[in-house]
Amino acid sequence: MAERVPDLMDKVVSLCKRRGFVFQSSEIYGGLNSCWDYGPLGVELKRNIQQLWWRSMVGEHDNIVGLDASILMHPMVWKASGHVDSFADLMVDCKNCKGRFRADEVGTDNCPECGGELTKPRHFNLMFKTHIGPLEEEESTIFLRPETAQGIYVNYLNVLHATRQKIPFGIAQAGKAFRNEITPSNFIFRTREFEQMEMQFFVRPGTEGEWLERWKEERWEFYIRLGIRRERLRFREHAPGELTFYAKQAYDIEYEFPFGWKELEGIHNRTDFDLKRHTQYSGKDLSYFDETTRERFIPYIIETSAGLTRTVLTVLVDGYDEEPERVVLRLDPKVAPIKAGVFPLVKRDGMPERAREIYQMLKPHFNVFYDEGGSIGRRYRRMDEIGTPFGITVDSQTAKDGTVTLRDRDSMEQTRVKIDELKGELAKRIDNA
Ligand code: ATP
Repeated sequence: MAERVPDLMDKVVSLCKRRGFVFQSSEIYGGLNSCWDYGPLGVELKRNIQQLWWRSMVGEHDNIVGLDASILMHPMVWKASGHVDSFADLMVDCKNCKGRFRADEVGTDNCPECGGELTKPRHFNLMFKTHIGPLEEEESTIFLRPETAQGIYVNYLNVLHATRQKIPFGIAQAGKAFRNEITPSNFIFRTREFEQMEMQFFVRPGTEGEWLERWKEERWEFYIRLGIRRERLRFREHAPGELTFYAKQAYDIEYEFPFGWKELEGIHNRTDFDLKRHTQYSGKDLSYFDETTRERFIPYIIETSAGLTRTVLTVLVDGYDEEPERVVLRLDPKVAPIKAGVFPLVKRDGMPERAREIYQMLKPHFNVFYDEGGSIGRRYRRMDEIGTPFGITVDSQTAKDGTVTLRDRDSMEQTRVKIDELKGELAKRIDNA
């Protein structure tokens, strides 16, 4: 496997800021710990990944439909889900420096920062609380959702009736989630506000084992399609003692970050726990009637729960590379924020006009970028660094035969392509990547 670039995380963080992928939130006020803003390139990258996920779920499956539920939900939802009582981490405080740590991450009796004495572990609920309406009373307390899944469970009957889906079927949702993490860390890896992409798949009891296997395979392929190096991905099965209270069997897809193997996505057999609890707490019957077998049952749920913002970090870290002459971000063309740079070789002989025409021709179809400033080598390197897979250059031959050079970011190979064929050629190269 290729050697890891030294100080990779620092370099990715600095590139993200310099080129406009990710900025510190509220930076001019000193920043807000663990919150990040996605800049012009970051927002494109994030959207591209989300769209590919949506397509891989809703687009490619007849039996998966989408949903966009509200972030604020009835407080009973979080009672029923178990989050009010048990969505907590054990936390310890340092009596000396007042640092606060997750008990499972400290591993000793002393503070990892200053060596001071630690308090006994205490439970700390990770949900953010706020109030709905003008009165800040106990009864008006609500939570920012810590996962998108519950919005799917409480809409399960609505979706079933509205779409006439039959089991097995799934509901997909992507959106913000909030967790008051004790120790957010590693840039956008673990943050207090983040985005998830979740698909909950409802199946007949007894078939959940085979569906878990199917979804494990599909979800693995998704990361391969994003262009992430296979050898840095692995499955990890949760040991029995590690399983969350609702799960019967659980796998994580993990990536080998510079700070270790970490979870990208969980694929869990959540049994009938969630729908049973919501039946119990809401008093509404959430059972399913199977018309062919004339049976009534509470479906089992296989969940695939991925982190969008964590996947953004993964493709950046996985793609970052340094060569003697350039930094190159080897993003898959499907996720790259800008698909092609369009350049006149020099700023004369009608080349800028011709290059602008090409730029205008491509712009409705692809996110392209026009640049005429500096040497052509510098312009290529600026695009390499942000992962732009293709460079299109108008040169002296263009006026003679209507061709331009098409440069490939990774191999730096240049081929001549007719201007009329550029659109098709780009589409083909982006899709086949
Ligand atoms: P961890 O044990 O790392 O806290 P988790 O097991 O609680 O994570 P899940 O509840 O399974 O995570 O969440 C599903 C996915 O949501 C994770 O695989 C991850 O990609 C993403 N995710 C969870 N928490 C965060 C966070 N604080 N910041 C960014 N992404 C997150």
